[in-house]
Amino acid sequence: MADLLTSDSSRREFMRTLSLGAGASLLGASALASPLEWLAPARKLGVALVGLGNYSSGQLAPALQQTTYCQLAGVVTGSPAKAAQWQKQYGLAAKNCYDYKTFDRILDNPAIDIVYVVLPNALHAEYVVRAAQAGKHVICEKPMATSVADAQHMLAAMKKAGKQFSIGYRLHFEPHNQAMMRLGQTAAYGKINHLAADNGFKFGPGGTPWRVNKQLSGGGPLMDMGIYCLQGCLYTKGQVPVSVTAKFTPETGSGYFKEVEAGVNWQLRFADGAVADCRTSYAENMQGRLRADAANGWLELEPAFGYGGLAGRTSKNDGLLNLPNINQQAAQMDDFAQCILQNKPTRVPGEMGLRDVQLLEAIYRAAETGRAVSTTDVVQLIDRTSAK
Ligand code: NDP
Repeated sequence: MADLLTSDSSRREFMRTLSLGAGASLLGASALASPLEWLAPARKLGVALVGLGNYSSGQLAPALQQTTYCQLAGVVTGSPAKAAQWQKQYGLAAKNCYDYKTFDRILDNPAIDIVYVVLPNALHAEYVVRAAQAGKHVICEKPMATSVADAQHMLAAMKKAGKQFSIGYRLHFEPHNQAMMRLGQTAAYGKINHLAADNGFKFGPGGTPWRVNKQLSGGGPLMDMGIYCLQGCLYTKGQVPVSVTAKFTPETGSGYFKEVEAGVNWQLRFADGAVADCRTSYAENMQGRLRADAANGWLELEPAFGYGGLAGRTSKNDGLLNLPNINQQAAQMDDFAQCILQNKPTRVPGEMGLRDVQLLEAIYRAAETGRAVSTTDVVQLIDRTSAK
């Protein structure tokens, strides 16, 4: 049986057989209740991390030690020293480790099912397209791309490859943020009239230089931290805004912000008259906050967007936001693996990444021109699955 399940297509075929009922007598009813739990040990999907920086080493690789349906199987790095260290630390086979030149050979490696692009923002497009051409499923870190044109190109490549594509939006798998989606989208406290979100940190000497290099980052804190505020307001309100206004915050004199903004404040307007006020900065430490004021009360997360320690409260003191913290990245990657195994759509698809890049561009345009920018033509997509 294990041999039967070692490739994607044979596993899918097996799932189809199960769903047709032929597997019932083979496995018994309890196995059918959750066939993936039974299938998982056969072979976890192999993930290759591309770019072994802070997020890969500090969060993703440790999370991949806790996943059920996928595991760290390879890496792509420009550093031979990191390749050697990761092989040792995680027991990776040398044949599963690539550099940026040899990356395309991943095409011939059946041990790698998923390529996870964790590079500086402007490099996402090239590596997603190359992963698509190698016939791999892909997770791409946020922000998906540094331009709408790049995001569209990536989507087209993934569509052509016929492989699954998701964005590293970990908070869609996080209980506090899922509760904000659920309570907001079901109007549990009445119609939401106002949202507020902020997120930022003080960029200092230890900051990764590409973050303030426009060519590599595509922009400053808005691309990096503000995207969480944008996402939070959309998934809590359950709507895509119709217009945006924005204003850059003044340069701090630190010398870091020659190419990218030091900060930006922006306001989203929704079709029903609701408004969201958001702030992001590289010149100020912010805990990360997401708040919704509704007709019959309010709900709030603070800290809202970190890897752990998230906390929430409501005006009714009803405990609905007293929730556990989990390993978000493990939940996110396991969900993607299950989407592949069960051939079902991800709740954080490339189209959502495109939607957000369209909105980020609109915010920059609004800040640059001082005018309201219409956002009615952006992708109309809201995650309703995580809200259930
Ligand atoms: P780092 O700077 O820590 O790591 C980036 C890595 O990319 C480098 O270590 C290097 O890896 C590789 N790289 C390849 N080319 C370049 C280049 N020209 N300049 C710099 N690095 C290069 O960044 P992060 O890990 O913090 O961020 C990576 C991505 O992940 C970003 O898109 C960021 O937005 C996203 N991110 C998402 C988070 C989330 O919570 N979802 C949290 C943090 C980041 P190597 O030496 O192996 O080649």
